[in-house]
Amino acid sequence: MELSPTLQEEFDIVVRRNPGEAEFHQAVREVLESLDPVVKKRPEYVEYGIIPRICEPNRQIIFKVNWQDDKGRVHTNRGFRVQFNSALGPYKGGLRFHPSVYLGIIKFLGFEQIFKNALTGMPIGGGKGGSDFDPKGKSDHEIMRFCQAFMTELSGHIGHDIDVPAGDIGVGGREIGYMFGQYKRMTGRYESGVLTGKGLTWGGSRARTEATGYGTVFFADEMLKLSNESFEGKKVVVSGSGNVAIYALEKLNQLGATVVAMSDSGGYIVDEGGIDLAQMQELKEVRRGRISEYADANSSARFVEGGQIWDVPCDIALPCATQNELSIGGARALIKNGCTLVAEGANMPSTPDAIRAFRDGGVRFAPGKAANAGGVATSALEMQQNASRDSWSFEHTEERLQDIMVGIHERCAETAEEYGRPGDYVTGANIAGFIRVADAMMALGVI
Ligand code: GLU
Repeated sequence: MELSPTLQEEFDIVVRRNPGEAEFHQAVREVLESLDPVVKKRPEYVEYGIIPRICEPNRQIIFKVNWQDDKGRVHTNRGFRVQFNSALGPYKGGLRFHPSVYLGIIKFLGFEQIFKNALTGMPIGGGKGGSDFDPKGKSDHEIMRFCQAFMTELSGHIGHDIDVPAGDIGVGGREIGYMFGQYKRMTGRYESGVLTGKGLTWGGSRARTEATGYGTVFFADEMLKLSNESFEGKKVVVSGSGNVAIYALEKLNQLGATVVAMSDSGGYIVDEGGIDLAQMQELKEVRRGRISEYADANSSARFVEGGQIWDVPCDIALPCATQNELSIGGARALIKNGCTLVAEGANMPSTPDAIRAFRDGGVRFAPGKAANAGGVATSALEMQQNASRDSWSFEHTEERLQDIMVGIHERCAETAEEYGRPGDYVTGANIAGFIRVADAMMALGVI
């Protein structure tokens, strides 16, 4: 899509200022493409430089992480924390440990997080961090030593009113535990609200583990309701097999859908009878095994090495693995096989041409910054419980999560309608998120 001259100029500055950061450019462009009607209606945003101010992180921290493996050998990784925007509250966003991590990935994620967090309606700014450390194949002791070394460097930059990290790819409850322990040791404070995604006995929130996957399904369910449909009897493909995918599977089962395929970096499995939740949890959460082993243990399932999961026919697809996992080829295969709805559980899993294909092909499409906001929203609920030294029931927390997702859906749908793009959740999410942050920035003055 073409940008207006003003927005094109802003985009060119971002590209020039952040060379080689392809994913960050992609995320910025996708938001700017929605903003033309907003800057026309609100010229004061341009006068106050809101767009360049929102595209430039407040602070980018890059640090060295030295750690020792089980044989005593020392390794060096790079750590990042990008504190992007704090107009609405303390920086908030996950940490990703994956070998693909570099500054451009953290910046795209941090940028997305600003708008996602704004859409939740909760008082949280946007940030993201991580490392190019590869947790795959590491022992529990190695993970602990890495997390401690990482937190040693990060601890001076975070705090419950400053910046509150959580998990993302490669960072779950175990890693948050080791990092929280190290923060506590270094500061001598039991500062529960400094990290979210904690364990239930030490300040965590019920339903936080489930929240992103559940939230994506709640969001898609709201989309279905608009045409008097439900998940009952629907065939669903869920890519990935991490935390988001597994709890999307659980909620989909509860709503009567059948998940016929899931994946990991080695390939995908197909089980027409429906993938078994308990087996998947045991395989991925307890044994940390490969998805191919699911097919080894189930005669009804088959494993396809490599390939693309989007070739599996389905009514609904939930990409829950990673960025740019669903490209034009995948989009065409989904459309050809009759898929009518795509909701993103991961961050930016669909490429721009895939999104265009969905738009042209009449596929209902929900971007990650709206559809996967349930995770960070429940992190904000965890912060609330920490601040009041309270602990809510699963039912209460899940109810709050569902209300928040219904609210985000409503905000996106209404905004899309208001700006003349009914049913366009990309435009709705970008504009609604942007306006909330921009208005707060205006109110706080030039700082
Ligand atoms: N990593 C998650 C996300 O992409 C959750 C972040 C959080 O809970 O702070 O939104």
